[in-house]
Amino acid sequence: MNDREALVSELVGDRADAWDLAGLIPTELLRKLGEAGLLCGEVPREHGGLGLSSLDNGRFTAHVGSLCSSLRSVMTSQGMAAWTIQRLGSARQRAEHLPRLTSGTLAAVGFSEPQAGSDLSAITTEIRPDGDDVVVDGRKVWVTAAHYADLLVVFGRYGDGAAAVLVPADAPGVTVERVADPMGCRAAGHAGIRLDSVRLPRGHVLGGAGAALTMLVTAALSYGRMSVAWGCVGILRACLAVASRHAKSRAQFGRPLAEHQLIAGHLADLLVAEQTATRVCEHASRCWDNGSSDMVTAAVLAKHVGATQAATAAAAAVQILASAGASDGHVAARAYRDAKLMEIIEGSNELCRLMLAQHALSVAG
Ligand code: FAD
Repeated sequence: MNDREALVSELVGDRADAWDLAGLIPTELLRKLGEAGLLCGEVPREHGGLGLSSLDNGRFTAHVGSLCSSLRSVMTSQGMAAWTIQRLGSARQRAEHLPRLTSGTLAAVGFSEPQAGSDLSAITTEIRPDGDDVVVDGRKVWVTAAHYADLLVVFGRYGDGAAAVLVPADAPGVTVERVADPMGCRAAGHAGIRLDSVRLPRGHVLGGAGAALTMLVTAALSYGRMSVAWGCVGILRACLAVASRHAKSRAQFGRPLAEHQLIAGHLADLLVAEQTATRVCEHASRCWDNGSSDMVTAAVLAKHVGATQAATAAAAAVQILASAGASDGHVAARAYRDAKLMEIIEGSNELCRLMLAQHALSVAG
């Protein structure tokens, strides 16, 4: 275990289930990790970040995901906000805002709207120029970490195209309302955001100009997909560990569960899932680190493999534990609820399959 992993292990300890039940992670802990640059480890050193490669940050993300998917979700949001600023912001915006994200400011990213979920071309949030300002009106839903965030990265229509705008969470006209009782990642601070005539200096529009919505969204979501994919590797590791321990220690019919072949089969499937997801994530991170043209597809593939394997494996882990893992407050029950949501976010299973099918068709010529 490296120093980063040891620090986060110490900070989380055995509290992830209590945070899940309470629906909250202590904000001071998030700020501490934020100040250490650990919530968005790929921010370059010149902007105060750790400058980690995608592979190193991915491995760290898997470690966090094995401890607590809510914390990993907050990390995904912070990293996605940082990546959006890095990709879309001007040199001045990068120099101003990235150091904030590596020194304790917490951020969240809002794409989804009541009528724009899978189909983000339906977003209606408007960013309207008005003199030296812009005025933002709209509504965002299910924004991970918005409850904790000081800064909201909001996507909306801008002129003929779209833009991302930096909205301080305490700006007049911003209302953040928590999602009540989410099924999983319960402490990740999901919230809806209302933006009513929010007036901001024009300098808050990333890059200062509009661009095609698809380009903007793909840039931001690709980071999110990588982070969720690695987080799913963490869920798989947690499931494998807890299920293996239980299968060795619990006996039925006069021998340990692990010696019953059907249970051994489940354990083998868990290992295959964990190894498969790890390798696909490593491949995607290498594409990312090399700036490969396959990067976008590799991120979709990693997210899809990670999420589907984690959801299947978490169900198997609950099956192996049976009543021992069937209560809230147990790592297997938490993994089961958290993993299911990974099949919905950053491109649902269906949307990932559609994108992968398009890729297959395009390479077939
Ligand atoms: P819908 O788009 O209504 O889809 C419903 C079902 O239909 C899904 O199964 C979908 O796959 C399927 N479907 C839709 N279109 C097609 C199609 N063309 N072909 C086949 N099937 C289709 N949003 C943010 O902006 N920021 C966040 O940080 C964020 N975090 C989230 C965290 C969680 C835990 C959850 C649950 C959601 C989060 N979201 C966030 C919202 C998330 O991005 C959306 O839930 C997701 O895009 C799906 O949209 P939807 O829920 O409206 O489902």
